[in-house]
Amino acid sequence: MAVPGTPGSPLRVAIVGSGPAGFYAAEALFAHPEIDFEVDMIDRLPTPFGLVRAGVAPDHPKIKNVIRRYEKTAGHEAYRFFGNVAVGEAVSAEELESIYDAVVWAYGASTDRKLGIPGEDLPGSHAATEFVAWYNGHPDFADRSFNLDCERAVVIGNGNVAADVARMLVLPPAELEGTDTAHFAIEALAASAVNEVLVVGRRGPAQAAFTNPEVRELGELTAADIILDPTQLELDAASTAFLESDQADATKRKNVEAFRGFAERERGNKPKRVELRFLRSPIAIHGEGRVEAIELGINELYSDESGAIRARDTGVTETVECGLVLRSIGYLGTPVDGLPYDAHRGVIPNERGRMITAAGESQPGQYVVGWIKRGPSGVIGTNKKDAAETIAALFEDVATGRLPERAGDHEALPSLLDERGASYVEYDGWRAIDALETDRGQTLGRPRVKLTSIDEMVDAAKRR
Ligand code: NAP
Repeated sequence: MAVPGTPGSPLRVAIVGSGPAGFYAAEALFAHPEIDFEVDMIDRLPTPFGLVRAGVAPDHPKIKNVIRRYEKTAGHEAYRFFGNVAVGEAVSAEELESIYDAVVWAYGASTDRKLGIPGEDLPGSHAATEFVAWYNGHPDFADRSFNLDCERAVVIGNGNVAADVARMLVLPPAELEGTDTAHFAIEALAASAVNEVLVVGRRGPAQAAFTNPEVRELGELTAADIILDPTQLELDAASTAFLESDQADATKRKNVEAFRGFAERERGNKPKRVELRFLRSPIAIHGEGRVEAIELGINELYSDESGAIRARDTGVTETVECGLVLRSIGYLGTPVDGLPYDAHRGVIPNERGRMITAAGESQPGQYVVGWIKRGPSGVIGTNKKDAAETIAALFEDVATGRLPERAGDHEALPSLLDERGASYVEYDGWRAIDALETDRGQTLGRPRVKLTSIDEMVDAAKRR
């Protein structure tokens, strides 16, 4: 069999998912000008860019500038976009495998981890990921509503998503109006009665997963004071030893310094407050028909046999009245029919990005990148190195002739989608959506007013 990658026999790659991981994978492919490619990127939404569009907090517009880099990749002559195509519905994993020399799975981690406590499903208790998708105008979440009629919201978790949702709950309307927050979320948040957000971490300040800029921002909110009781910063021996050891990275040390600064502040007089409370795990969410309170178990820390610092329950509890609980304890990847899946970690098993079957064999021709490869960790840029590793494995398989023989040609995917009557959106269609959104935004002095329904998006794409 001829090694694919020549004009007569281009290397045909499908990338499933158009978030950062997918785009860095495409970029790593195109970094080889000596190879001829056909790269088709497939996304279940009509719009590209994954969590850069539907995850990054709207008050962080600079982070979204990375889209310019992805647009450059999308401008490559060998790149095509097929939006509004759900793998498992419009096309199966097996079909992609039979059409393309290689398939790179880059579909991220679209659902959330559960706490597994009583009351978790009461109205008023939501995954923070749902709230994030809602305020970002993700079409699957546009019809959600959140109880913003209450005075206190509790956010569970000490990661950057927890920081994002805490901030969004207390940003003044004027600060939201200049962003690309979904129009319905701007209205709902402007009318919100929430004036206190309690952010709860199960371990201590030295273990919080926030990064430094996100902590700093919590202390710089225009409409909310940051509250941290100094007793919260009395560190246990294991955390003190950790911070003094080589294991502690600068991020953790700087977080603790920033927390100390918060604890030393005089009580402010801003209309709202964000309070950080550590060493607490939710035990139950209480309420008659809706969230009315959350019961927190107070923890202590200990080092396990491996030296990791963990939390354990002391048996002491406290109950906090609240009307909204946002559980921000991590995203979770989901399985795709026909692909191996590690349900515990929520990832596709792989070795350096090469998929591993349930029988433990590596599968040349099938690759993974991003959160579905390594789990939901790291920032956007982390995906660049991650994709480089995977694409290196793909090229090894090309060079050693390990890719299985495939039957598809340039028209295979669009023909299949046309046959099935699937309304797919190409990159020009996305450009039309983009132009409509930015035009709508311009009149209001906003970066864009997002379309938040698939039908509207497909219509806008067709009218290009
Ligand atoms: P994360 O950083 O992994 O944080 C998850 C948090 O949930 C941790 O504090 C964790 O505590 C806690 N947790 C997990 N299970 C729990 C349980 N059963 N009970 C109580 N707490 C529990 O996840 P994330 O905030 O969802 O963020 C995902 C990734 O996206 C991260 O890498 C993050 O940095 C990134 N991100 C970046 C930005 C940005 O750059 N601005 C914005 C948003 C997200 P333990 O530490 O004790 O496990």
